[in-house]
Amino acid sequence: MNATDKTIAKANLFSRLFDGVDDLNRLAIETVDGQRISYGDLVAHAGRMANVLVERGVKPGDRVAAQTDKSVPGLVLYLATVRAGAVYLPLNTAYTLNELEYFITDAEPSLVVCDPSKAQGIGAIAAKVGATVETLGADGKGSLTDAAARAKPDFVTVARADDDLAAILYTSGTTGRSKGAMLTHDNLASNSLSLVDYWRFTDKDVLIHALPIYHTHGLFVASNVTLFARASMIFLPKFDPELIIKLMARATVLMGVPTFYTRLLQSPSLTHESTKHMRLFISGSAPLLADTHREWAARTGHAVLERYGMTETNMNTSNPYDGDRVAGAVGLPLPGVSVRVTDPETGAELKRDTIGMIEVKGSNVFKGYWRMPEKTKAEFRDDGFFITGDLGKIDTKGYVHILGRGKDLVISGGFNVYPKEIESEIDAMPGVIESAVIGVPHADFGEGVTAVVVCDKGAAVSEASVLNALDGRLAKFKMPKRVFVVDELPRNAMGKVQKNILRDTYAGIYAKAK
Ligand code: AMP
Repeated sequence: MNATDKTIAKANLFSRLFDGVDDLNRLAIETVDGQRISYGDLVAHAGRMANVLVERGVKPGDRVAAQTDKSVPGLVLYLATVRAGAVYLPLNTAYTLNELEYFITDAEPSLVVCDPSKAQGIGAIAAKVGATVETLGADGKGSLTDAAARAKPDFVTVARADDDLAAILYTSGTTGRSKGAMLTHDNLASNSLSLVDYWRFTDKDVLIHALPIYHTHGLFVASNVTLFARASMIFLPKFDPELIIKLMARATVLMGVPTFYTRLLQSPSLTHESTKHMRLFISGSAPLLADTHREWAARTGHAVLERYGMTETNMNTSNPYDGDRVAGAVGLPLPGVSVRVTDPETGAELKRDTIGMIEVKGSNVFKGYWRMPEKTKAEFRDDGFFITGDLGKIDTKGYVHILGRGKDLVISGGFNVYPKEIESEIDAMPGVIESAVIGVPHADFGEGVTAVVVCDKGAAVSEASVLNALDGRLAKFKMPKRVFVVDELPRNAMGKVQKNILRDTYAGIYAKAK
């Protein structure tokens, strides 16, 4: 190996994560059912699974798609894919077969991993692109782990360049199809290393990991930051407020979406005393209400640290570790990340405190959308800034504030819901003329998906019939919480539906949902 080859080998995120671990016995992950996985175990498990991937024909650059429940082998699959030089493609467990068909045919993976109960349905889709199927259940059992148990732990990490792909995560615009955000080894490594520093992670930290691992937050921010710091994480299969409060007695950090914080606040066990071992509470993926920030500080004595990121860019800004964590603000640009606010029409940079389009640039920003060169071109400025689609401002102290999403994206429980997708499903129903889907403030979910429907005179369309028809076609988190049947939708002079008027009309319907 010459010097250049060594540099390239080191660029693999896996090498950057695990080369030079000083103590292989150091604890990396513990589970609620008592498993303890050391750094050495994790490297060996990833080696076994990488050998299985290669046996199944996965080559560097191939996609490995996974729709699996959260489990340690699920995380190992991500590490093994990266180690084998392939591209990890996690899929939300809520996606139905109808939705998976698009992702699988678009990404053309060579291997698809799914729950044993879904092997038949997903197998039929995978066959269309010639992909092999392996199974992995919530209990960590399946054909994938069976094969891994028989495989050798030694595996030579495949050399990759900084700019090679490590993962594709599907996101979506407010209109059109979902887009696969291509993330490189360096996008992921550089951002996590910067967060380790910014949030003062050390090998003494114990993270309560309660986020799903098919999304950038739980997969990259939580897992990569912990592993880079040689810290450990307590892996929870799902969000469980009482268990989390119990674990705080021996943990140091929690990363959550705002819904975690509003739910935890509902527990009388959340006190100064129960949180006194914790050093940091981080929130992101959706706006944390200033009220929640204040209530949390009053109850626990901790100021939640809010940060802002997105699938395409990893993390962009964060409130400071020392210094003011401002309620309602997402903080300062991370080191190496440039943030500016521009006029959405002209692209001209705006003065401080002026609302416009947030744009970002840095090694955190993705390479582009999978097989969508035109879309990629349209969302980058000529000087390399990515147009986030978020509207916001930078105040005089340099803090970034997000004031609303461009267009009408709804974020419910931390998940993005794209109105157009739900509207198309509703509009296709017999008797429906048109529909508008909006986000309405919801005390628990941040926003509740709400559908407003116009139907033919005398058509038997009701809230129940619409919900019934959507059941099984849409992931649960996208399902409207309420459906209103009305005579007509408000429109402006140009014929555009005025969703702001609808939002005002229905504001308050979920206010007392706690
Ligand atoms: P995702 O790609 O699913 O991570 O969603 C990214 C979007 O979530 C961003 O473009 C923002 O609109 C929103 N978002 C993420 N973090 C925050 C935050 N702290 N406050 C407000 N919105 C946020």
